[in-house]
Amino acid sequence: RRRAATERLATVGRLAAGVAHEISNPLSFVKANLVLIREQLAERGLAGERSELESSLSEAALGVERIRRIVADLRGFAREGPDEPCGTAVQESVDEALRLASLRMRRIAVRTSVPAGLPAVRMCRKRLVQVLVNLFVNAADAVDEAPHPDEARRWVAVTGALEGDEVVLRVADGGPGIAPTALAHLFEPFFTTKPLGTGVGLGLALSHEYVTAVGGRLTGANGADGGAVFEVRLPTQAGAAGCDACYATALTPVPMARGA
Ligand code: ADP
Repeated sequence: RRRAATERLATVGRLAAGVAHEISNPLSFVKANLVLIREQLAERGLAGERSELESSLSEAALGVERIRRIVADLRGFAREGPDEPCGTAVQESVDEALRLASLRMRRIAVRTSVPAGLPAVRMCRKRLVQVLVNLFVNAADAVDEAPHPDEARRWVAVTGALEGDEVVLRVADGGPGIAPTALAHLFEPFFTTKPLGTGVGLGLALSHEYVTAVGGRLTGANGADGGAVFEVRLPTQAGAAGCDACYATALTPVPMARGA
């Protein structure tokens, strides 16, 4: 049953990548038409109505931009690529992972403190994003799982710091914490405490594999206030550029067709 659940999830993943591709096209003409309408408004000088229409158009454009970024992230995330060692910008990866996980983090306060100046780390961007998405989704699951959800505990915090020659990312949450019986098994494949159909127990096992493969460490514990704290330690990669074989191309803007 676990294998069937895993296969179903893999299929959903492939479908999501296909859906992301299909959304790009209509999205590009929605965006182009918004630009056209704005230009026409300016030309016709619709004085009184203009400001209200302008703000509606701006809101629509913001919405379109948000969809475009999520779609671009999803497409990049789903793209296969060789696992070459490369330098990855940490703050951008955290932002990208948060955008992807935002689909699952509704009504959860997310606090981030990841400085832009952190050095690049020696890990493929795609993999770093995957590790972070796993940690964010687990944190969201934990926050939602609390028996009587206390609004004040609906938070996830991500921090980043340079410690020696490692970048340390910590993901903490306001959930009930890691069950004592789970602590020793967190990184075992197929270990899950979630109901069948929700968890398959591969997220942390894969994340652990990815992080240790580049000489880093991934650990999980409970914080002083009871919630879980996961720590990712990654070696820095001084002066390295992004690896376009794996991911950098994913963020190129969706081409815009005029009209349509
Ligand atoms: P899955 O999410 O499919 O269960 P994971 O490998 O990501 O698989 O996680 C394994 C187990 O680790 C979870 O089922 C849960 O028991 C525990 N766990 C992971 N993250 C947290 C967290 N933030 N708070 C509490 N427990 C967690």
